[in-house]
Amino acid sequence: MQFKTPYVAKLIYPGLLWDMPSDENKIYLTFDDGPHPEITPLVLNLLDNYNAKATFFCVGENVKKHPETFEFLKQKGHAVGNHSHNHLNGWKTANKDYYKNVELANKLIDSKLFRPPYGRISPSQIKHLKKDYKIIMWSALSYDFDARVSKKECLERSIKNSTAGTIIVFHDSEKAKEKMLFALEGYLKHFSKSGIEFCALK
Ligand SMILES: [Zn+2]
Repeated sequence: MQFKTPYVAKLIYPGLLWDMPSDENKIYLTFDDGPHPEITPLVLNLLDNYNAKATFFCVGENVKKHPETFEFLKQKGHAVGNHSHNHLNGWKTANKDYYKNVELANKLIDSKLFRPPYGRISPSQIKHLKKDYKIIMWSALSYDFDARVSKKECLERSIKNSTAGTIIVFHDSEKAKEKMLFALEGYLKHFSKSGIEFCALK
């Protein structure tokens, strides 16, 4: 399991954003796969408690199903990004279909930020989508979606692999819910104590 993005991955995929500058005392929380009508509001409450802002990489079909949750998170001052309309794997999708799906999602999401589902995107897809989007990857994964990881381990590894400038991935999804809420609260508590500010990506 790669909790922390290896340096070599960043070399193979230049032109993608893996982390932010480390000279500012900031961490960038990101939440993929929502919005979800029950889970996303729980995340928003926790973020409020710590005065934290985050970026939500939304799946277009979920935005379509839960437009009120999507509007609510924007009203709260969080940023939104495009995570395709149907959570497509770029490696298994023809380029034309992939671009269409991203475009379809963006009619609802309207963002300049894109994160490829599963982190799987081909060099030609990167080249094409870079014309319209800033492609955002991550420096740390919480593994909140993985049944092999306990909630305590999820929290501890997330903390251990984060520092100023980290972009970390959580999921506001049913599969991740329990672990994510536990790890997120501990993570916010831990880094707030060291004066870290939680910011949205722009
Ligand atoms: Zn995803």
